[in-house]
Amino acid sequence: MQKKRVIILGAGISGLTTAWYLGKTGLNLDITVLEKSHRSGGWLHTDHTTGYHFEKGPRTFKVDKCPFTMQLIAELGLQNEVIWSEAKPHHRYLWHEGELHRFPTNPLSFLFSPLTKGFIRALLTEWNRPVKNGDETVWEFVLRRFNYDVARLFFDPMVVGIFGGDIRKISVRACFPKLKNWEEKYGSVSQGFFERMKEKRKEPKCSQAVDGVPMSAIFSFQGGVERLPQSIAAQTPATFHYNNEVSAISFIGDEVVVKTNKDEFRADHLFCALPIKETASLFEGHVPEIAKEFSIIPSEGIAVVNFGYDASVLPVQGFGYLTPTYAHEDILGVVFDSSVFSEHNRLSQETRLTIKIEEDKRSEEKYIEAALKGIRRHLGISRTPQAISFKRATAAIPQYGVGHLEKMIELNSSFRQQLPQCHLIGNYLSGVSVDSCIARAKEAVQEFLSRMSPGDGIEDSASK
Ligand SMILES: Cc1cc2nc3c(=O)[nH]c(=O)nc-3n(C[C@H](O)[C@H](O)[C@H](O)COP(=O)(O)OP(=O)(O)OC[C@H]3O[C@@H](n4cnc5c(N)ncnc54)[C@H](O)[C@@H]3O)c2cc1C
Repeated sequence: MQKKRVIILGAGISGLTTAWYLGKTGLNLDITVLEKSHRSGGWLHTDHTTGYHFEKGPRTFKVDKCPFTMQLIAELGLQNEVIWSEAKPHHRYLWHEGELHRFPTNPLSFLFSPLTKGFIRALLTEWNRPVKNGDETVWEFVLRRFNYDVARLFFDPMVVGIFGGDIRKISVRACFPKLKNWEEKYGSVSQGFFERMKEKRKEPKCSQAVDGVPMSAIFSFQGGVERLPQSIAAQTPATFHYNNEVSAISFIGDEVVVKTNKDEFRADHLFCALPIKETASLFEGHVPEIAKEFSIIPSEGIAVVNFGYDASVLPVQGFGYLTPTYAHEDILGVVFDSSVFSEHNRLSQETRLTIKIEEDKRSEEKYIEAALKGIRRHLGISRTPQAISFKRATAAIPQYGVGHLEKMIELNSSFRQQLPQCHLIGNYLSGVSVDSCIARAKEAVQEFLSRMSPGDGIEDSASK
């Protein structure tokens, strides 16, 4: 049987997982990955060049929020490299009215914290508020069901921290689907929360995929987050061509022709795992309406500054803190990396911090200056760090506006009809998280399999 040639564009987690699941189909495939940089992983990037363990992108994952990632870890045999920590002791803080406040972790602190006053008021009436079907912004949803304080002190920093976005613009259905579903199913978010708590009691307390890891834990890997892409790249049967920036695609007969800065590649099938803007410009000449829709979806950038100290300099321990938009701080949030995973510390007295700042046109020096100034004010740290590392994550997070998910389903289906040999994957389709990217890659491989004919060896592979 003749080998089917498949090209994957991009070696971020989306492209890599596609390669992995294609490799597992059992089909006779010749898989090529084209990547513009010199490495695999995209935003998953662990940096040891300063001697400190710094993460430039994602740093921790929550077990119960990552079913696809956990499954992938088991498939890759990476279980023994997983390090985990119960999420509970990792206190989280908010910069509010000129000081850091700890988010409550027990009922008593919930009653008396200045951060949760709004919640208590809202909970008295939330169960009885009218239900509204359909999508809306997170801001509208929270004002409607809770109140202004809950929106600005709780959801606003969370939206900034997770999506780098504006609570007044992003979709509640896309970003907090559970809350929206609870409203629609039970008539109230609080009722949904209690129902979920009841269900949770019956569920396994530990991950089924990675033995002994509690569902409530957060996890990383001994060698850092980049172990995940490294391990996939090492184990897939795909051939990687690094430093190959894709510049054009064309279709000649049944073949897809991909041009890069170095070479030309031909295939029977193409999986595009590039960021949304690159995807739009590549397909502009082939599916102009779809490309136009992609091109107008905004993406937010984040500047990531890592500081390393050969001493304990933190005044408080925990996961880190966020700043709400109303406070107009330069810093969006700080993660206390050395406190979250001490396994990554080289010294017993070490501090590692990641400072996130909204990306604009500032120079690297200005970002570092802003980060130093911010932690001096918020944490009282005035010492010069032993190591500094900087990364600009330009246009890294696509913003899911109201109706985004429905629109993506529609566009993807139209794309598949017009270009049946091509598949779209990436963080703009069904979720920005790493877990959503993995889920989408798995789904795209299923879509690909559903189009294979018996002559492609599909009967042998369908059950794998
Ligand atoms: C700072 C930061 C923190 C984050 N934190 C979290 C977190 O805590 N938890 C979480 O779940 N998610 C987090 N995310 C989001 C998550 O990391 C991303 O959504 C996800 O990694 C996207 O993966 P991807 O493969 O779709 O895209 P990318 O990682 O962007 O990969 C795309 C790849 O395509 C390559 N490429 C681009 N153009 C071309 C071209 N023309 N030709 C060839 N190759 C090209 C790029 O070099 C890259 O390798 C974070 C993101 C950032 C930036």
